[in-house]
Amino acid sequence: MTRTDVFLAEMRVEFPTFRIAKKRTSALQRAIHVALAVITLGGQRVYLTRYHTVLFGVLWVPDAWDAMSDDDRYVLLRHERVHLRQRKRMGDVLMAFVYLVPFFPLFLAYGRARIEWEAYVETIRATAEVHGLEAAASLRRHIVERFTGPEYGWMWPFPRAVNRWFDEALADVRAEHGGEV
Ligand SMILES: [Zn+2]
Repeated sequence: MTRTDVFLAEMRVEFPTFRIAKKRTSALQRAIHVALAVITLGGQRVYLTRYHTVLFGVLWVPDAWDAMSDDDRYVLLRHERVHLRQRKRMGDVLMAFVYLVPFFPLFLAYGRARIEWEAYVETIRATAEVHGLEAAASLRRHIVERFTGPEYGWMWPFPRAVNRWFDEALADVRAEHGGEV
């Protein structure tokens, strides 16, 4: 069994109805893709090809899923499990509200930024486990761009703040690894 298969089996104990589906097979997902491209003025055009999205307990995977390595899928599932737990904790209505409403759907979406940040901390932790601390540290630019750029609707366009969050998360992960560099 691959690392992904083992982890998926573990996830299904916690979330028995969890399943993975292809975005391209869903009319709703294709509609979301078009809507996102429009409201971000073309800033988000890769929803169908590169983005993974958990919606009502289903992980919608993009075209890129097929080409991902076992390790990359595992790291991604660790991130998505955080969203499934958030959904359990908050419920669909509250989670959708926090994710979409405060402050605005575009620009300064603090609720969305905090929900995503919790999941990205897990991405950093899982990357350190699989590829080492060096690889985890090198996620910085990619993650800061996601928070401050158009792909998530400029949800928290303050690079200094996101860099500080990253420093804190990396320090925690380092400590979990016994402080080795
Ligand atoms: Zn996420």
